[in-house]
Amino acid sequence: MRSSAEPAVERAEALVEPLGHVARMRELLGSAARERLPHALLFTGARGVGKFLAARWLACGLLCTTQRSGALGPCGTCGGCRQFTTGNHLDVFAIDDEGERIRLKKIAYRPDHEEPEAVEAERFLATRAAAGGWRVVLVRDAERMLDEAQNAMLKMLEEPGRKALWILTTAQPQALLPTVRSRCIAVPFDALSPEDCATVLARHGLALDEARSLAVWARGSPGLALWLAARSAKELRGVLQVVLAGATPPLDAARALMEIEGDFTGSTPREIARDRARTVLDLALEVGADALRLAAGLPPSGLAHGDLVAGLPATVRERGTGEFGRKLAALLETRADIDKNLDPQSLLDRACLTLAP
Ligand SMILES: [Zn+2]
Repeated sequence: MRSSAEPAVERAEALVEPLGHVARMRELLGSAARERLPHALLFTGARGVGKFLAARWLACGLLCTTQRSGALGPCGTCGGCRQFTTGNHLDVFAIDDEGERIRLKKIAYRPDHEEPEAVEAERFLATRAAAGGWRVVLVRDAERMLDEAQNAMLKMLEEPGRKALWILTTAQPQALLPTVRSRCIAVPFDALSPEDCATVLARHGLALDEARSLAVWARGSPGLALWLAARSAKELRGVLQVVLAGATPPLDAARALMEIEGDFTGSTPREIARDRARTVLDLALEVGADALRLAAGLPPSGLAHGDLVAGLPATVRERGTGEFGRKLAALLETRADIDKNLDPQSLLDRACLTLAP
C-alpha cells in the first residue's frame, strides 16, 4: 500500500470484517462484479462506527484474487489479500494519517511540492494497476481536506480512470465542498445494534458488562466506545452525576475530573490536560443533552445516559428544559475555549460550576 504519509514504512493491519456493515459492502462488491460500481463513494456516519474498517474490507475485496462463488469478500489468504494486510499492495493509495489536515500535495501533483519519495493521488491514478485489477484511493476523515485539496480532486473524482475507485469516509459530510459531495455516491452507515457493538468491544478484551454499558453510551459506535473506555468513561460519569446532583462542591469535582487516569493523547502535560478537559466536556455535553431530553418528557430507557439522568434527585430533574438549555449553551462555549488554548483546569472549573444546580 502506498501511503502518502510514510511511503517507506509498511504497517501490517489485520483485516477485520466490519460487523454490522458486511451486507452493504457485499452489495458494493456485487456491483463491482457487474461493472456497476460508481467511481467515488462517500461513507458517512458517526465517528467510530466502522466506516474506515469497512472501506478497507471493501478495498481488499476488490483486490482479492480468489474467486469464491457466493462469498463476496476478501479471502484473507491470497497474494492480493496478504499484500493488502501487510501494507504492501501497490494498487492502494491510503490517506489515513489521523488528525492532520490533508493538504493539496497529498492529492495533486505540483512540481514545486515534490519531495523525495512522496506520492500523491494524481500520479497514483495516472499509473497502471500493478496487479492488473482495481486501484483504490482511501481517504480517512475526508473533512480534513483543505479547500484547495478538495478543488484539485474534482476532476479525479469524476474520471479516476478505468477500474479505479475513491472511497472517502467522514463523520461530517457537511464540512466537505458541495462540489465534492455531488461527485460521490453517499453510503450512509447506521449505528450498530447494542449487541453487535458489545460483540466488537468484547473482541477487544472488554468484559461483557462493561461492553454493554459502553455500547449504549457510545450510541452503537464501537470506535467511540473504545475511545471512552480508554478514558475511564465510567469514573468520569460518576463524577458528573454527583456534580449535577449538587452532592459535591463543583471545584472539588473539577479537580477530581482532572485527576482521573486514562489513556489521553498528547506528548506534553499541557496537551494531556487539554485532552482530559475535552473528553470531560464532550461527555458532559452528552449527559446534559440527555438531562434536557428527560426534562422534555422523553423516557430514560431511550437515552444513552438515561440511567445517569434518571438517577438525579427529582428537584434537579424537574428544573425544566430552560435551565438545561442554558447549561448546555454555556458548556458549548467552554468546549470551544479549549481550542483557544485557555487553561484546561480553569475550563473544567467553569464546566462544573455550570453543571451544579
Ligand atoms: Zn484474497
